Amino acid sequence: MNTTVQSLQRRLIALGFPLPKHGADGDPGGETLIAMNSALNELEALRGEKPPTPKPEPSASIVPVDWMPAAKMERIICHWTAGAHKASEFDRSHYHILIEDDGKLVRGIPSIKLNEAPAKKGYAAHTLNCNTGSIGVSLCCMGGSTEAPFDPGKYPMTRKQWDALTDVIADLCRRSGIKITDKTVLSHAEVQNNLGIQQRGKWDFTRLAFDPSIVGAKACGDKLRAEASAKL
Ligand SMILES: [Zn+2]
Repeated sequence: MNTTVQSLQRRLIALGFPLPKHGADGDPGGETLIAMNSALNELEALRGEKPPTPKPEPSASIVPVDWMPAAKMERIICHWTAGAHKASEFDRSHYHILIEDDGKLVRGIPSIKLNEAPAKKGYAAHTLNCNTGSIGVSLCCMGGSTEAPFDPGKYPMTRKQWDALTDVIADLCRRSGIKITDKTVLSHAEVQNNLGIQQRGKWDFTRLAFDPSIVGAKACGDKLRAEASAKL
């Protein structure tokens, strides 16, 4: 019997590191080593020499790395395509990132880099007089819809699209350093009020097909920012 090991084992047990199979048997076996290692890690963490078990990222990267060239962008403007539930070539020509009805991301044709100031030929034209510095994300939905009386048409916005949108916003903000405010993360329908740049009667988003209790650009935008912030 190894009394030094046995005494060490007893101390480990007393400290709350159980050695379930054998108890304090004097055998310097695997369980003792694992328990010692764990005790040492905790002690080191307590002394600040080693961080506790690293926390996993809140969520993995949502937007593929090659869709995100280094570019200094200031805001994210969220839209719907006023088209069908899948991204057409036409839809893809106007936005950087599109989100289909099942939450699948589709890359738009223009690179985000083209919308960096000064905007370059072929940039994504998604918001009148407000494309420079603006990432355009669009939900593929709402073709044939009307605002008043509200009729979401044949391609209503889905909850999955909305949830994917808040995932994308949180991811873009984390990676580009954009902070979430009502001037930096907003829907197209908020641009005129929040940024003072006149638009032509855009109502993406003043109604959410999956939640008719939310009405108006600010209410929809506040919900968007709150849910995206919660994912940061
Ligand atoms: Zn729009």
